[in-house]
Amino acid sequence: MSVKDLVVQYINNEKLVHAVDHVSFSCKENESVGIAGESGCGKSTFGLAILRSLQKNAMVSGQIIFNDMPILDMTDSEFSEKIRWKQISMIFQGAMNSLDPVFTIKKQFEEILKKHNFNGDHQKAISEIISSVGLSDSILAKYPHEISGGMKQRVIIAMALILKPKMVIADEPTTALDVLVQAQIMVLLKKLKKDGLSIVIISHDLGILSEIVEKIGIMYAGQIVEFGNLADVYNNPQHPYTIALLDSIPKIDESVQKTPLKGNPPSLIDPPSGCRFYDRCPHAMEKCKKDPPKIETSSGFVMCWLYS
Ligand code: SF4
Ligand code: MG
Repeated sequence: MSVKDLVVQYINNEKLVHAVDHVSFSCKENESVGIAGESGCGKSTFGLAILRSLQKNAMVSGQIIFNDMPILDMTDSEFSEKIRWKQISMIFQGAMNSLDPVFTIKKQFEEILKKHNFNGDHQKAISEIISSVGLSDSILAKYPHEISGGMKQRVIIAMALILKPKMVIADEPTTALDVLVQAQIMVLLKKLKKDGLSIVIISHDLGILSEIVEKIGIMYAGQIVEFGNLADVYNNPQHPYTIALLDSIPKIDESVQKTPLKGNPPSLIDPPSGCRFYDRCPHAMEKCKKDPPKIETSSGFVMCWLYS
């Protein structure tokens, strides 16, 4: 998949919100890409835009090419028929809490199959996918309140995979789970990836991302300010925000107290022109008041005047 100049804007309380601003990146088949950043930076909006699941008043422009298909140019019905859930699906943030309490797990799988006009054997498809996420058929007769958080998250992952998509977008797939369950879910995602799934993981947790992705994009105030191979970005970060973000992760062998990044990201309602990290950047210069250039790095790009 390649995303080029993706822009998402919507009106909130009569104000224009610039949620995603000219985002570009690519993800090859069977590759994993992480999108990292603080909450409110536009990560989730970005994921929803790929699946064309944004609120109705969202204005989207740019290009998303998936398997040679320009998916933003498709009609809604064409997208639903060919792409949504069948080629690209999504593990929505907090979805495990939105399982319907009045229906059994089985019934909720059946609803998805019906909604997407699945013609094959429902029971077989459900059993297969349930076992691929490490659950047994006995869970199907249960109601959501009868199973643990970790099991619910596996159910959500199974639901996203039931139509055998090539790519899944996972929005904070381990957030709100306790540490042991987080680790189990990561093991599961890695296994699915090994079996051929491409995964875009959206997370504020750089530790989680480092376990699974090959490439990573660092998002700040609606923009991807740095993108590249995981090892390059982690070992040799270029953008001052990436450096600050990595620096804020406590390391076991360090006794020095970390100094968290001061200040807050700019509002997406009326973001400043020029570099959006300007107010918080220790290297800010006069020219940073103009939009920073996109500079090629060894495996991706960085948007910053320091390198021009
Ligand atoms: Fe800092 Fe300037 Fe780079 Fe922005 S463009 S991150 S203000 S050095
Ligand atoms: Mg989010």
